Amino acid sequence: MQSKPLVGISSCLLGENVRYNGKIKLDPTVKFELGKTVSFIPVCPETESGMPVPREPMDLFQTGGSIRMITLESRIDMTGVMEEWIKKKLDELSEIKICGFVFKARSPSCAMNSALLHAEFSLERNGEGLFAKAFIERFPSLPVEEGEKLHDPVRRDSFLKKVFSIHKARYR
Ligand code: SF4
Repeated sequence: MQSKPLVGISSCLLGENVRYNGKIKLDPTVKFELGKTVSFIPVCPETESGMPVPREPMDLFQTGGSIRMITLESRIDMTGVMEEWIKKKLDELSEIKICGFVFKARSPSCAMNSALLHAEFSLERNGEGLFAKAFIERFPSLPVEEGEKLHDPVRRDSFLKKVFSIHKARYR
């Protein structure tokens, strides 16, 4: 039996140099508090789909009926590149039986509901990152949370209980 549950995590929360601006964004609470009891599987949708560090920032844009991920200066639509990578990555993650995921807030790839979303007459911080959205649709029963929400000990305990419950059920 895998002794610690496997939990996916946005790589930058572990302090990996993968962010668009080349700056480190370690989340010590997530890395060290959760890391006592789970093993992390780091995932960075943007670098793993071939984007460099540093890179041009991107946001989500509502265009017609779909949400696109577009670079802010050169206006390149990266949605297709990301969606192709997501399909392969979700298949890979289903093989290793992860028990939950911790996402980076405010990212057009990783946020659960806090990315900037440009619509025709509005700009709101309620966008679902393309990877996070696809992950949640593919694995609806797995616990998921944005990293900074896990700074709240009650929320963290609740997340961990769900992770351990799935882990135990898998290896019963
Ligand atoms: S938020 Fe997601 S895509 Fe952006 S650097 Fe972190 S892991 Fe990579």
